[in-house]
Amino acid sequence: MLPATRSRPRSTARNLVFNTLNRVFDALALRSRCLLCRTTGLGSTDTLCRYCAAALQPSSRPCCTCLRSTVFVPDTEERQCLACRRDPPPWARLVAPYRYEPPLDALVPRIKKVRGLLELSLLAELTGVAVRNDYEGRVLPQALIPIPMAWTRKFTRSFNHSEQLAARLARMLDLRVLRRGLRRTKGGPPQRRLTRSERLTNVRGAFQATRRIDGLQHIALIDDVLTTGATMTAATRALTKAGVERVDVWVTSYTPTDRLAAL
Ligand SMILES: [Zn+2]
Ligand SMILES: [Zn+2]
Repeated sequence: MLPATRSRPRSTARNLVFNTLNRVFDALALRSRCLLCRTTGLGSTDTLCRYCAAALQPSSRPCCTCLRSTVFVPDTEERQCLACRRDPPPWARLVAPYRYEPPLDALVPRIKKVRGLLELSLLAELTGVAVRNDYEGRVLPQALIPIPMAWTRKFTRSFNHSEQLAARLARMLDLRVLRRGLRRTKGGPPQRRLTRSERLTNVRGAFQATRRIDGLQHIALIDDVLTTGATMTAATRALTKAGVERVDVWVTSYTPTDRLAAL
């Protein structure tokens, strides 16, 4: 087992409280209501009713590095599409099992607005299962790094959902989390308020790797939703620039192409 990461005392205390609360919620298994449709009478370990669970089927993933459904290179082990072969994204592998659309898009805002811990646990569980399936027979990353919040948002929201998601995934998969493996070097408005091209400019050069990644060759970046990929591109480049050989990206969901067109 690798040593736990150190952090500043105030953050440590805050995270200790969050983690304890998370465990209490998990232990109590307050799951008698469906998280999506609020139907009551669920089993003690269920978070969704069977109808909502059926609606949350993972999408079939056409390519190991993108979400485009296109032409494949035949007989390749990794099922990478031709577009990625010609113009590869900066990451080596992408896990994004669900489309960010109903009913899943009702869960994510609750995590951010009201610190929905049960919703967070559900997302972690869905993502962790997808990762296990996806990496079957493959080597897992040495550490997980959550996408850090912009410092401007830390004043309004002390809860970093990516950090919490990464912590739960790490517990599920017995991996290490580097909460401060990356830091934001510039602020800017939240990505969700920007157009596609503005998002790229907004996060270009926005991340810098810290010394905590020293000696690591394979890292997975963690977030809840992949929209245009601009944030993950910038974060991946910061890690590879600092010497990380391979960066994978794990998100619970991705914005489908038709929704992206509206940005
Ligand atoms: Zn339901
Ligand atoms: Zn592809």
